[in-house]
Amino acid sequence: MKTFAVINQKGGTGKTTVAVNLASRLSDLGRSVLLVDIDPQGNATSGSGANKEKLFGGTLNVLHGANTGDYLACSCAGGYALLGANYELAGAELSITEKSGWQTTLRDSLRSGEVGADFVLIDCPPALGALTVTALVAADSVLIPMQCEYFALEGLSDLARTIRHLRDNWNPDLHIGGIIRSMLDSRNLLARDISDELSRHFGKRVFKAAIRRNVRVAEAPSYGLPVLKYAPQSSGADGFRELGDEFLERFA
Ligand code: ADP
Ligand code: MG
Repeated sequence: MKTFAVINQKGGTGKTTVAVNLASRLSDLGRSVLLVDIDPQGNATSGSGANKEKLFGGTLNVLHGANTGDYLACSCAGGYALLGANYELAGAELSITEKSGWQTTLRDSLRSGEVGADFVLIDCPPALGALTVTALVAADSVLIPMQCEYFALEGLSDLARTIRHLRDNWNPDLHIGGIIRSMLDSRNLLARDISDELSRHFGKRVFKAAIRRNVRVAEAPSYGLPVLKYAPQSSGADGFRELGDEFLERFA
């Protein structure tokens, strides 16, 4: 089992879209995948077709010490298992830290052997708070979706500092598994500059596969589907197929 935190403390960089579609692609390729929604916004949950108003169990219960296996909320259209979240998780940001050892609850639950997934993808909230910390303690590595826009690189040093802190204190092997260009507009010269800058800075860790900006990608969540299922012929779906294939080349 390999665990990935999909993270960027900025909102709207494509974390949820990457998490949902990568989960779907890896499932299509015959891998068993668990998607863990750890964002109180619950976008990965609704975007997977689950009803976030009627969650049974879910990530919240796991953070309060329930066994992961008891609470696999649904097996959705994308073919992967989902541990769902909704607004109730917002309260957990404060309450979970009252118990000592809270940092490792998610990790321990995922490792308890009940999950049995090849890959676990954790969709993080746009913040570096307690929920994100539990994801970073549970993860083997992080995937960072980035929009290739002017402020994209801003904040990366905060993220790098957080990762270092986690590595020094909780998770010595934590590393950056990959940078994903999640909304590329290749006609835009600035996007190309930033793409080049990412390559200089992160080298081979930048995935060759990039997801182009595509309206089908934005429409898919309102149908509770990955774009791979909603519009399989779209350029967005092409991008996620390539990303999933490259992901397996790296991590299988
Ligand atoms: P985050 O989880 O980082 O906040 P999301 O994955 O929710 O980001 O993406 C933010 C918004 O951009 C969503 O409305 C999503 O549907 C849209 N989006 C993401 N990727 C693309 C893309 N490649 N093309 C068009 N829209 C996209
Ligand atoms: Mg999100």
